[in-house]
Amino acid sequence: MIIFQHASDLQKYLGGIRNRRLKTGFVPTMGALHDGHLSLIRQCKKQNDITLASIFVNPVQFNNPDDFSKYPITIERDISLLEGSGTDILFLPSAEEIYPDKKDMEKHYNLGDLGTILEGKFRPGHFQGVCMVMDRLLHIVNPNRLYLGQKDFQQVMVIRKLISLLNLSSEVITAPIIREKNGLAMSSRNQRLTEPEKERASTIYKQLKWISENRFTVGFPDLKNKAIDQLEKAGLKVEYLVLADASNLSLTNEFNEHIKMILLTAVYAGEVRLIDNLIL
Ligand code: AMP
Repeated sequence: MIIFQHASDLQKYLGGIRNRRLKTGFVPTMGALHDGHLSLIRQCKKQNDITLASIFVNPVQFNNPDDFSKYPITIERDISLLEGSGTDILFLPSAEEIYPDKKDMEKHYNLGDLGTILEGKFRPGHFQGVCMVMDRLLHIVNPNRLYLGQKDFQQVMVIRKLISLLNLSSEVITAPIIREKNGLAMSSRNQRLTEPEKERASTIYKQLKWISENRFTVGFPDLKNKAIDQLEKAGLKVEYLVLADASNLSLTNEFNEHIKMILLTAVYAGEVRLIDNLIL
C-alpha cells in the first residue's frame, strides 16, 4: 500500500493510473476503522482496479468540539487493517493539506431541506462540513466510483446532491450496515462505550426491528412511543426516531407498502451520540 500525505503527489500518481485506463474506487473515512469500513473496501476491491482509502478527521463537520476532541484515533492499527484488506493507496492528509485556503471553509452548498432536517437540524453546519471535505477530496481523487455506507443514510443523499451540484461524474455505490453480533451498528464512536453501554445500545436496532415487524398491526405513533419507552428503560436518550419516505426523507406517521420507507434514529448513550436506520 502506498501512503500519500500530499494532494499534489497523489494527483500525479493518479494521473499515471488514468493513463493506463485503470478504474479507481474511493472509500473516504475518518479512521478508527472497523468491519463496516472494511466491507466498503472489500466491495471496492471487487469492482475496481485500484482501491483508494482516505483517513481524515474533518474538523469542520463536528458541531460539538468535545465530540471532535474525543474522536478515536488508531492510525497504526488502521494502516495495518487497510494493508491486510488489500487497499492499494491510502491518502492521509493534514488539515492544512485539505484546507490550504481559508476561503475553502467559507463555501456554501445549497442542499435545500436535506441540509436542515434530521441530522442537519440536530447537528447544525454538519452537512456543510461534510460537503467541504468531500468537494476537496473528490476534486483530488476524481474516482470512477465512490463507496459510502447506508449507516449514514442522509449523508449518502447529501453527497449525491453535492456530486450533481459540482457536476462530477463519480458513481455512488452504497453498502449495507455492518452490525455487531448483538445488532449494534458498527461505528468508530462505539470505541467510547463501555461493554455494558454497548449491550444497552443494542436496544436501538432491536427496537427498529420491533417497529418494522409490527408495522402491519399497529400505527407508527404507538409503536414509536413504545420503542422510545424501551430505549429510555435501557438508559438511552432519544434525539429523534422517525419514519420517512426513503426517496426524499419526508417524514410521515403512516406506513405505506407501496413506497420504500425508512426508520431513522439518533440516540445518546451517555455522551456518545449514535445513529442507526432500517429500510422497511
Ligand atoms: P466514517 O469513518 O464514520 O466517516 O465512515 C466512513 C464510511 O464508512 C461512511 O461511508 C460510513 O457510512 C461507512 N460506515 C460507517 N459505519 C458503517 C457500518 N457499520 N456499516 C457500513 N458502513 C459503515
